[in-house]
Amino acid sequence: MRLNIQLFAVPARKVSKTRKRLRRSHNAIEVKGLVKCPSCGEMIKPHRVCPKCGSYKKNKVVETEE
Ligand SMILES: [Zn+2]
Repeated sequence: MRLNIQLFAVPARKVSKTRKRLRRSHNAIEVKGLVKCPSCGEMIKPHRVCPKCGSYKKNKVVETEE
């Protein structure tokens, strides 16, 4: 007699909704390396001229389109 058994990994227990959600509570992607522009409040990369208002360290250094 030939046994028709599929051999692959099967979880011993179902992961409950709570366990699944607890695991995924750390999975959210967060935006890192952004600071608030002191002039316009836009989120910008630090140590760079703000692309929105063209300022650096509160001084306007580049002209931008309004
Ligand atoms: Zn700005």
